[in-house]
Amino acid sequence: MEKKYDVIVIGGGPAGYTAALYAARAGLSTLVVEKLYAGGQMTQTSQIDNYPGYPEGIDGVSLGMNMQKSAARFGAETVNTEVLSAELHGAIKKLETKKGTYFAKTVIIATGAGHKHLGVADEENLIGRGVAYCAACDGMFYRGKTVAVVGGGNSAAADALTLSRIAKKVYLIHRRDSLRAEKIYREQLEKAENVEFLWNSEVSQLLSAERLTGVKLQNVFSGEENVLDLDGLFVSVGMRPATELFRGQLQLDESGYIVADESTGTSIPGVFAVGDVRTKEVRQIITAAADGAVASHYAGVYLASREE
Ligand SMILES: Cc1cc2nc3c(=O)[nH]c(=O)nc-3n(C[C@H](O)[C@H](O)[C@H](O)COP(=O)(O)OP(=O)(O)OC[C@H]3O[C@@H](n4cnc5c(N)ncnc54)[C@H](O)[C@@H]3O)c2cc1C
Repeated sequence: MEKKYDVIVIGGGPAGYTAALYAARAGLSTLVVEKLYAGGQMTQTSQIDNYPGYPEGIDGVSLGMNMQKSAARFGAETVNTEVLSAELHGAIKKLETKKGTYFAKTVIIATGAGHKHLGVADEENLIGRGVAYCAACDGMFYRGKTVAVVGGGNSAAADALTLSRIAKKVYLIHRRDSLRAEKIYREQLEKAENVEFLWNSEVSQLLSAERLTGVKLQNVFSGEENVLDLDGLFVSVGMRPATELFRGQLQLDESGYIVADESTGTSIPGVFAVGDVRTKEVRQIITAAADGAVASHYAGVYLASREE
């Protein structure tokens, strides 16, 4: 007979390993399926200052490994493989992976999301060396420097505002001639003396030596190009949640996030969505971890209700 876990967590980022810690500590048999290694997006940053308990901050790889160890201490297992398909309806959920089939009574989806990239040459190489995707995370490295934000929505506007309080100068690069962002953001940005809007412009090239030194901007109408010297470029053109596996089974919103409120429950009983992959306003390590705790609580409630 195949083993049936009480809980299988898909994804080993902060949401996934917190869910696993709480589930295993509550005595539930728990497996984390992680396609790469512990930590998720955190592994892309060398300095996390806003996860409490680390007065000097901590690098993302160490925090991810610590989270895995905390869960393992209570018996949570990890298998490093990718979930290729999931059958979520029914009392027993079935997950196909590269390393075989796994069965569970509940599934906690913690597959996260990734920032959309610009798609210009050298972008991947310059991540952490002048190219960034999260002002709340990396803005502090640009105190007193010159930066630009690319994008026109609420998150680009919020990033530009955050950076205006840290950096010497902030350019907001947008391919249209006005922001989609809400009025409250637009008004605050217009008042900020160190913010300059560069309308109808796209980044056509990243300029670098050891790290980013600037960008080449192209006017979307005339095609004219000019160089902008920068210390940092924050790309804020949206997120892409890792939810393709669940399309057609779970309710997703128009951007592809799994519809789930603070209870983390989804449209299928016994299936929970935690962290960056679910509909929410603030996507950070601490909110992801909080979701993990909540989901394990409700997974326990669901399991108990089926035993009655
Ligand atoms: C560069 C960078 C710096 C950041 N800095 C900070 C910071 O300083 N402070 C802060 O609070 N937040 C920061 N963030 C945001 C924070 O990392 C995320 O909000 C958080 O990691 C979300 O956690 P999560 O567990 O929901 O998802 P993720 O961290 O995205 O983890 C999802 C995991 O699921 C795995 N996975 C996906 N699909 C599958 C599959 N099919 N099968 C198996 N595994 C799968 C992935 O490999 C990944 O490990 C930063 C993000 C980035 C990119």
